Amino acid sequence: LADLLLEPDYVLLGADAPRLVPGLAVHVAGDRIAAVGAPEQLAAAGSERLRLAGQVLMPGLVNAHQHGRGITALQLGFEDDYLEPWMAFKRRRQQLDPYLQTLYASLAMLANGVTGAIHANTVGGGTSYPAEVEAQLQAYMDAGLRVMFGVGAMDRAQLAYPPDAQDAVLAGLPAPLRDKLGDVTRPVYCDGIDASLAFMADLRARFARHERISLAWSPAGPQWVSDALLAALASDADRHGTPIHMHVLESSAQIDAVNAVWPEGLMRHLEKLGALGPLTSFAHAVWLTAEDAAIGAQHGVTIVRNPASNLRLHAGIAPLAHYVQAGLRVALGSDNTTLNDDEDLFTEARLARALTRSPAWEAPPALDVPTLWAMMSANGAHAMGRGAQAGEIAPGRLADLVALDLAHVRAPYIDPDLDPLAALLGRARGADVRLTMVGGDILYRDGRFPQHDLAAIKERCRRDGMRAKAAPAALTRAEADILNDHLRAHYARLRAEHRDLARPPLATPSGWSQP
Ligand SMILES: [Zn+2]
Repeated sequence: LADLLLEPDYVLLGADAPRLVPGLAVHVAGDRIAAVGAPEQLAAAGSERLRLAGQVLMPGLVNAHQHGRGITALQLGFEDDYLEPWMAFKRRRQQLDPYLQTLYASLAMLANGVTGAIHANTVGGGTSYPAEVEAQLQAYMDAGLRVMFGVGAMDRAQLAYPPDAQDAVLAGLPAPLRDKLGDVTRPVYCDGIDASLAFMADLRARFARHERISLAWSPAGPQWVSDALLAALASDADRHGTPIHMHVLESSAQIDAVNAVWPEGLMRHLEKLGALGPLTSFAHAVWLTAEDAAIGAQHGVTIVRNPASNLRLHAGIAPLAHYVQAGLRVALGSDNTTLNDDEDLFTEARLARALTRSPAWEAPPALDVPTLWAMMSANGAHAMGRGAQAGEIAPGRLADLVALDLAHVRAPYIDPDLDPLAALLGRARGADVRLTMVGGDILYRDGRFPQHDLAAIKERCRRDGMRAKAAPAALTRAEADILNDHLRAHYARLRAEHRDLARPPLATPSGWSQP
């Protein structure tokens, strides 16, 4: 068990008014923070001392939306595109080893200062969803990351949405391609409500007392789940205090899909199904209306911003400043699709903030430093159901901590009057992380993982990529291109038909929200 006295140059303290405080030491005992105080007061504490010279000790970052994908889609040959054809392209590659993918993703997150993550619904295209979940959970446990694992569910519109448009899209495809796609209604997660509930019950029994793995429902998204399925999951979530994490209104095509299935509005309908609450988080949510934002805020839901993923997949710019102004809690995710195609949440946070600097003078204010910092840690911890345990350096909190080297932030000069936290959030990169600790365990230090041989894992990933490339896939590249041309035409037509929406979203297709 850890019994460590950490002595950094600064400690990032405070939730509402976060600041870097010099001259403090932090005593970690077991998986918790035991004390924060002057080094001379804590001199007797800790069987081991760790001087973190030139570094700031801060709460670990939380990646509040990702899929455990270590090798990225781009590395697999899928160039950035509109979300819908980008998703469909995956049919032209055999699945990767889910254990290796998730292990490699976890190590990349740890190296970038992430101590907690939400794993959203994910299928790798294997034949057994429970087997994939098993492999992914094992990888997270082996990596040591704290994870809220979202169990996926989906029962409609797997190939195209809105759900009632799927048959027409299929009918428009050349017959040989249609045959190769097979039964597009075949379940990719568990088959139906009862199987989903039974699978969750089994996982709950096994992980109820697990220190680092917790469970959530992660229905794929409104257009992908029937009301009956979503209501059943929401009522189960309510009964067991289980969080809900779901993709909503990511792409502009999904506006039309959601309006088609839920004409009274997204949040209104989710409210009716009992899916809204303080443990509900929505990834992306680029296209909320003002009414959606107000209803979400009323119920205490969290919006998880994925700025680079949204830019790379033509999904648009979420009106984050409006959401904050409306009282929504906001968190940050990488979606394993960041600007630099890595797991650097510092850069993502900066991008999210820069995109709140609207050219309109009368726009809501850009994100301030405390909100940005809350978005990177405490709000994600809240969405994981760990709001009272993580996200802050204080006695009794979990020792999910990161030490970050300030050399790059300060070199060669930094104005002494600049708020040190503003300097850190303005300049730090994941590469400046020197130490990552989860529950008192040091999982990353100075470029190395004490429990893992990174070079060997990378080599296994490389071989797995080659294996998957050589294995027969559902579609050839040419077939996938034909399918995607049909999908592009379908969604473009849909958008053109619905240009004048009765409930316009806050965001606009060309960029910033309407002032
Ligand atoms: Zn996602």
